[in-house]
Amino acid sequence: MTRGEYAAVDHGEWDRIKTRLKKEFGDSAFKSWVKPIVLDGIKNGEVELAVPTRFMRDWVVTHYADRIRALWTSENPSVKRISIKVAMGVPSSPAPSLPTRSSAAQLPTPPTPQRATIPFGFELSASLDPRYTFANFVVGKPNEFAYAAAKRVAEADEVSFNPLFLYGGVGLGKTHLMHAIHWEIRRRSPQRSVIYMSAEKFMYSFVRALRNQDTVSFKEQFRAVDVLMIDDVQFIAGKDATQEEFFHTFNALVDQGRQIVLSADKSPSNLEEIGDRLRSRLSSGLVADLHPTTFELRLGILDAKADSLGTEVPTKVKEFLAHKIASNVRELEGALNRLCAHAQLVGSQITLETAQDLLQDLLRAHDRKLTMEEIQRRVAEHFKIRLSDMSSARRARVVARPRQVAMYLAKQLTSRSLPEIGRAFGGRDHTTVMHAVRKVDELCRDDQAFAEDVELLTRMLEN
Ligand code: ADP
Ligand code: MG
Repeated sequence: MTRGEYAAVDHGEWDRIKTRLKKEFGDSAFKSWVKPIVLDGIKNGEVELAVPTRFMRDWVVTHYADRIRALWTSENPSVKRISIKVAMGVPSSPAPSLPTRSSAAQLPTPPTPQRATIPFGFELSASLDPRYTFANFVVGKPNEFAYAAAKRVAEADEVSFNPLFLYGGVGLGKTHLMHAIHWEIRRRSPQRSVIYMSAEKFMYSFVRALRNQDTVSFKEQFRAVDVLMIDDVQFIAGKDATQEEFFHTFNALVDQGRQIVLSADKSPSNLEEIGDRLRSRLSSGLVADLHPTTFELRLGILDAKADSLGTEVPTKVKEFLAHKIASNVRELEGALNRLCAHAQLVGSQITLETAQDLLQDLLRAHDRKLTMEEIQRRVAEHFKIRLSDMSSARRARVVARPRQVAMYLAKQLTSRSLPEIGRAFGGRDHTTVMHAVRKVDELCRDDQAFAEDVELLTRMLEN
């Protein structure tokens, strides 16, 4: 490209687009991925962009190119395509070839010499959450194995299994256990060096090293640690260059007898887009999974959490939460936090009603698809009445009582409001529903057989 053609480029367009991208993707993504892109020129409706590495090109192509093109077309309708090339001449470190033309301001700011000599002086290891300790981890059937394995790694002076691979669904405690290992090692042997970081950060650091042409110190940093923990390894699936680097780091550490701990949302064999060599390496140590929580474990977590918050939470409310929010401990904690914060703010007791009220949005999202119709049907079957009697005007006790039970269950097992429930029962008033709920509560207290009926129905509907 000649200087003449280049001068024709309107950098104002690119500046405006970058401003937009920064808003849309946030500062850190912008700094890592967009800022280093250099506008090379526009030719025949094609915008030519350049980035310093292949890896960056692939990343920008998959994550940002469509958006850049769309923004560009809206700035300048003559633009039809964009191309992104790798240009070694697009330096992110001071280089003699730094262009002196007016577009120089477009180039990424070269690192200061000081930065260049200590390029990885930034904190490699993520900061640790003080709450994520072994002592604060509630152990139950679903996680006892992972817990024991993590504990062993943290307490052993010698590497027992390498790597320890923890996997499980979102919010089941993987990150918690990894922090706990870190805390414990720090406590027992402060001289051991530990790096804990997300796979995402690993990738960013690696890309940064490539960009600064400083992969040597990148490698050295990692290869000098005693314990390397990488969280959410699934993130590097499909990112070939990062995977390759990770693989080498991994091998180097294992060969030197250093401990590696990894986590992912799937087992090594179920991780997609992971090379076979790496996969087999990942499964070569101990693979421990965190199973979905059980009701008992959730209740235990709520107990522990409520204790630490120093707020009185009625057992009924804890049971209610443990029933309703079954999939994710983080959300379960979030719900409890919300209740406690509210109780403290308004100086009131936590009750089942306030819980239902305050958590409506959350509960709705977690509602199993238990419909009121299903409740009515089951209750009608159980008491051998017709389904239509759930909404009929008949007041005879043989139908009125089951109807009240169904209303009560609708209130307990769904997050529908009283008026909504009333409507589903033949357009009854919400006060009727309220009365039904009270009545059933009362009967449960006074009549053992009736209480067992309700209990049984509840269990049937919950499964
Ligand atoms: P993951 O990394 O598996 O997505 P986290 O470790 O971030 O999950 O856990 C989510 C939240 O749930 C954290 O606040 C964590 O402390 C809490 N948590 C998960 N499992 C337990 C447990 N068994 N005992 C206590 N807290 C837990
Ligand atoms: Mg996590």
